[in-house]
Amino acid sequence: MEKIASFQINHERLLPGLYVSRLDKSGEEFVTTFDIRITRPNFDDVMDTASIHAIEHLGATYLRSSAIKDKVLYFGPMGCRTGFYLLIFGNLTPSDILPYIKDTFLYILNFEGKIPGQSAIECGNYKDLSLEGAKCYAKKYLDEFLLNSPIDRMIYPN
Ligand SMILES: [Zn+2]
Repeated sequence: MEKIASFQINHERLLPGLYVSRLDKSGEEFVTTFDIRITRPNFDDVMDTASIHAIEHLGATYLRSSAIKDKVLYFGPMGCRTGFYLLIFGNLTPSDILPYIKDTFLYILNFEGKIPGQSAIECGNYKDLSLEGAKCYAKKYLDEFLLNSPIDRMIYPN
């Protein structure tokens, strides 16, 4: 079998940032898959599931209410627990979506109250949600990348 594109990234040199993971085309429509990398692979501790799950609920809620809500296909965690994938209609660059990603993580950092979808009816594991943990990772991502967003954190390393 062929080695898929995301396994061809050098994860040993990958730092927290915002990257284009894939660009796909179906018919006339492009879909850009963004790599929202929160922790440094094989270096930082990976995110715990309760924090990652809370970021998923809050991030999806925010993005699906935002100015780009009609373009958002999917937002969800990577299996390695170092980040998230965001699929958006269009042929886009990290700079195009940076303001929305920054707003998403500011929303998480400042969120108070009950997490959207935190009930047995709405979620498959509703007790495994940590708002405190989500805020901690949102702050880390804002401090380490989003607030100054250096260009070299938006292009995959060789
Ligand atoms: Zn859930």
